[in-house]
Amino acid sequence: AAKLSGRNTARGFSAEQAQALQEKAWMEGELREALARGGFVLHFQPQCSLQDGRVLGAEVLLRWPHPQRGLIPPDRFIPVAEECGLIVALDAWVLDAALRQLARWHAQGLALPSLAVNLSPPRLLHGDLQDQVLRLLAQTGLPPSALTLEVTERLMLDERQDRRAVEPLSQLRALGVGVSIDDFGTGYSCLGYLRRLPISELKIDRSFVHELAERPEDRALVAAMVTMARGCRLQLVAEGVETEAQAQVLRELGCDAYQGYGLARPMPAAELEAWLRGRL
Ligand code: C2E
Ligand code: MG
Ligand code: MG
Ligand code: MG
Repeated sequence: AAKLSGRNTARGFSAEQAQALQEKAWMEGELREALARGGFVLHFQPQCSLQDGRVLGAEVLLRWPHPQRGLIPPDRFIPVAEECGLIVALDAWVLDAALRQLARWHAQGLALPSLAVNLSPPRLLHGDLQDQVLRLLAQTGLPPSALTLEVTERLMLDERQDRRAVEPLSQLRALGVGVSIDDFGTGYSCLGYLRRLPISELKIDRSFVHELAERPEDRALVAAMVTMARGCRLQLVAEGVETEAQAQVLRELGCDAYQGYGLARPMPAAELEAWLRGRL
């Protein structure tokens, strides 16, 4: 290893950079293999109404239990999958597995209204998102309202991307599929995209929720988001709600729904079933 980093240093890489590159190459190989042999698992985190506690749906969160390294968090592997292009296939797999799971639940009489699936920008820009959604809805018999697509403001950073993403999202939105802006308030885009994008929901980033009960500034920002969502007729969901005090402020301000450890952690399908029984 000393010899290798020495060579890389001669080419202008630091030892750390060389190691990071190696790690990335390793992970790319492992991701490919996991995708091929079904090595990923879905977890689900419930979303409930803040006004009456009704279960509105669940967010689908990808998990990678690695045979040697244990559970690798999405924040570690999603960026690598995005860089090497594997995210397109990975997000397609998640959407497929999620809607099939929801259809099984409905067949068992577990009437979870909807699932929210995260999509990285490349998935929106490459290939057959509309085809895949239409095919899955036809195969499962689920209504379009059973699916919400979560996208981030990152998508709107680039004007060309922005224009290419609007088309498929508009068509799906027109069908009745939900479109949500995830991590709302943390991106760098201007609010103009709220007028261009065919969205149905804003998801307040958890950084605004964390100190909501203590910081009047955060309260003011969330109040402004409530006004904005109302005026634009968008559903408003808060993420990362950990305490009853936070939920109480959100309720007072008029936020529609919430999600977070304070309600339930993301969990495997079997645990969600148990959690939902008696609540639906
Ligand atoms: P996200 O979509 O914003 O998901 C919310 C994240 O917050 C999840 O992290 C969730 O476990 C975590 N979380 C939920 N409640 C709380 C809370 O009360 N407190 C705190 N501190 N955290 C909470 P996770 O599962 O590690 O996912 C991280 C990110 O990875 C997601 O952020 C999303 O951007 C991405 N991701 C996850 N699954 C997928 C996927 O299937 N496709 C794509 N493209 N991205 C995904
Ligand atoms: Mg999300
Ligand atoms: Mg989020
Ligand atoms: Mg977030």
